[in-house]
Amino acid sequence: MLNNKTTQPPQQSSDLTVRDAQASVLGRITPVGSEEIPLQQALGRVLAEDIRANRDLPPYDISAMDGYAVRSADIVDAAAAPKVLTVIEDIRAGDMPRLVLQPGQCARIMTGAPVPAGADTVVRVEDTQARPGDQVAVLVPTPAATDIRVRGENMRQGDVVLAAGTEIQPGSVGVLATVKRATVKVYRKPRVAILSSGDELEALSDPFNPDKIPDANSYTLMAQVQALGITPACLGIARDDPDELAGYLRQGLEYDVLLVSGGTSVGVHDHVRPTLEKLGVSMHFWRVRMRPGHPVAFGSAGCAFVFCLPGNPVSSMVCFEQFVLPALRRLCGHQRLFRRMIPARLTRPVKSKPGRAEFVRATLACDLDSGYTATPAGAQSSGDLLAMARADGLLVVPAASKGLSAGETVPVQLLGASAYQDEPGLGEEV
Ligand code: AMP
Ligand code: MG
Repeated sequence: MLNNKTTQPPQQSSDLTVRDAQASVLGRITPVGSEEIPLQQALGRVLAEDIRANRDLPPYDISAMDGYAVRSADIVDAAAAPKVLTVIEDIRAGDMPRLVLQPGQCARIMTGAPVPAGADTVVRVEDTQARPGDQVAVLVPTPAATDIRVRGENMRQGDVVLAAGTEIQPGSVGVLATVKRATVKVYRKPRVAILSSGDELEALSDPFNPDKIPDANSYTLMAQVQALGITPACLGIARDDPDELAGYLRQGLEYDVLLVSGGTSVGVHDHVRPTLEKLGVSMHFWRVRMRPGHPVAFGSAGCAFVFCLPGNPVSSMVCFEQFVLPALRRLCGHQRLFRRMIPARLTRPVKSKPGRAEFVRATLACDLDSGYTATPAGAQSSGDLLAMARADGLLVVPAASKGLSAGETVPVQLLGASAYQDEPGLGEEV
């Protein structure tokens, strides 16, 4: 079969480093705008407004325990002999105290109930003994201010409790409910379109044809976008024909972000970049000093951004991780744009040719004493999706490296599922 590709292009001095390419992308991107949404739908979104407390919480000094509100001066000698006090009222959460404590008096109080005037501390019920009638004996001297949560200690009216830019997590949903926000202003999600290109591709719904290559990229990209909380539109497969491609690309440019895979290299049938340029897209870079993923390109037209990802399935995924993911997170309003990096010790040597940064698919193991170890996950060919499917992270080999030895510590970029592990791992004492 005729191979339409030239041999690997010589490294161009204009090729960007990964960091410069990321800077080129992020320098052009700001969040896409905001919208008001119900609190129930806010998980994972990013606040586009500061949220202030609308009251003091707790609203008054309250008890942190079930017990008795007392005057600490009355019970200083309780260790020597039980101190018998008169119970003058019963205060439950939701009640307001009616009486002011006088010397020798106390009030039975429940967790969350307001501490009555005159009392300055709470004795736990376990440190008392019921006596006949309205009497209770306090067995333990309890210093002033014990087990009292003071007014405003959790939040004060008017204070900013969540700043714009905060990602809404379950805890922040609780804070928003606490300050009575039934709706919140969040950054809008970008609209993302995905297009695969290549004459050889077989769609998932096409009949099986052993001469074709199944379209994986539409689905890996869809899943990578979905993992960020965005539902993309899959436009389908464009053949390597400039007119057909132009029709699809025009449609894709209606979105905030268009991801095209395949056809971005130097083969005579790689029409994606020239066709985009004909449609008015300015290409900001093409080719980055990385492996896999060298032919990646990025452009924009008006408010639309286009990423041209290499067709090899692993290259497409790795380029998504380095460029598309931070871009989509910024469009969504996030301040933390990048995957977490961790140091890990190599269990085996890693070969590397100098010239391009390498992203090696790796599995991770961790124990609390020696930390993380990283093991390259099988074949590292840019077409080998199986290694990518097994990987916990991408081990980063610097462009200048001629290879790494077992035992060396390397930075690893964590992938999605690596936040979880097999064992609870809480340690023996827990
Ligand atoms: P290209 O970037 O178009 O030169 O494609 C590079 C390699 O990736 C070729 O072997 C293609 O068959 C393969 N490829 C391109 N697009 C896809 C896709 N959507 N799914 C799976 N493999 C693909
Ligand atoms: Mg192709």
